[in-house]
Amino acid sequence: MYEIRSSELLRKVMKDYFAGFKQAKKIAWCTSVGPVELLRSFGFEVYFPENHGALLGATRTAMDFIPESAKCGYSNHVCSYTTSDIGAYLKGESPLKKQYGLKGIPKPDLIVYNTNQCREVQDWFNFFAKEFNCPIAGIHPPRYADEVSKEEIALVVDQHKKIIPVCENTSGNKFDIDSFRHTLKLSKEATRLWQDVLKTSISSPAPLSFFDGVIHMGPIVVMRGTQQAKDYYSILLKELKENVQSKIGAVKNEQCRIFWEGMPIWGKIRMLSDLFVQNNTAVVASTYCSSWVFDEFDEKEPFESSALAYTKIFINRSEKAKMKILKNWLSEYKCDGILFHDTKTCFNNSNAKFGMPQRLKEETGIPYLVVEGDLCDLRFFSEGQSITKIETFIEQIERQKVRA
Ligand code: SF4
Repeated sequence: MYEIRSSELLRKVMKDYFAGFKQAKKIAWCTSVGPVELLRSFGFEVYFPENHGALLGATRTAMDFIPESAKCGYSNHVCSYTTSDIGAYLKGESPLKKQYGLKGIPKPDLIVYNTNQCREVQDWFNFFAKEFNCPIAGIHPPRYADEVSKEEIALVVDQHKKIIPVCENTSGNKFDIDSFRHTLKLSKEATRLWQDVLKTSISSPAPLSFFDGVIHMGPIVVMRGTQQAKDYYSILLKELKENVQSKIGAVKNEQCRIFWEGMPIWGKIRMLSDLFVQNNTAVVASTYCSSWVFDEFDEKEPFESSALAYTKIFINRSEKAKMKILKNWLSEYKCDGILFHDTKTCFNNSNAKFGMPQRLKEETGIPYLVVEGDLCDLRFFSEGQSITKIETFIEQIERQKVRA
């Protein structure tokens, strides 16, 4: 069985990250594509509720908690990160207790969000700001952009700057541009290494599958702006490059290469990984893992480059822009097909609802499959039906390849 040796180091890196909350002087909560570098420059330890939501999904405990938030009026059809996280809080439970020895989720001194990914984070984070009676600040960039204009960047820069007094008051530290530049530089270096890690899977056999990627992306999500994240990806990249050299891949007999569009199905990562391996198919790239590549970070222009990088993320783009990005990835990673995960409780990260798969096929000739499911709520995922659909899809691709 294929194993990435760095996984052991990853466990330690993540353990150390969570241990940091035990002695933290000040804690800020942040959305996963929020302005973490700015927060870290004030000395905050930064906690990410979405990471907690993913943990609830991966440990399959989400299902125990979603009904709790439904009792408070949160619909079962809104983001299951939100409903499982709120439900876990209401029940006083968290996998962080068992896995990392914390007493529960870290208590925030400040909560910051960016609606670049969705408006749900605003509702979710406001619930907690009220619960913990702490300040909350938001960035509200323009949404669904074709391209991001200079005027739009200026608007978002202004919103970043408005957060500074709130950070100063809460942290007790004055804003220091050099500290911000330094944090952004570390973040830039880590994100470039992460991009290189993902790009090792352009090679065949691919040394990193989507299912490995969603595990190894932990530090780039929660530790951007730290030396530890940068160091981790240097080590992982070295190992994966060696595997490319030795032609060792995640799938031994790689016959077919698939792109995964949309969210992971956290409670079914292992099952899906095994299914693709059994079918000699590598899931070589994804929009999800690529969402934490921020090419534009530039410490010389920390505000402008952060505003640009965080506004032009894939999820915040128009269909025209998304199609262009997807076409490039499909070609770069030499994909034979694309799987759209139609995520029931996150329409923001589901691109299969308005005909994009069909239009993409018309333009590229690349076959697609739509699988219905969810990030955390497994009531929306039919395992048997999905296995049949995926296996049939792979067979069709292989038949087409033979004919060609
Ligand atoms: S992008 Fe989707 S999954 Fe992520 S927080 Fe927003 S609604 Fe939830």
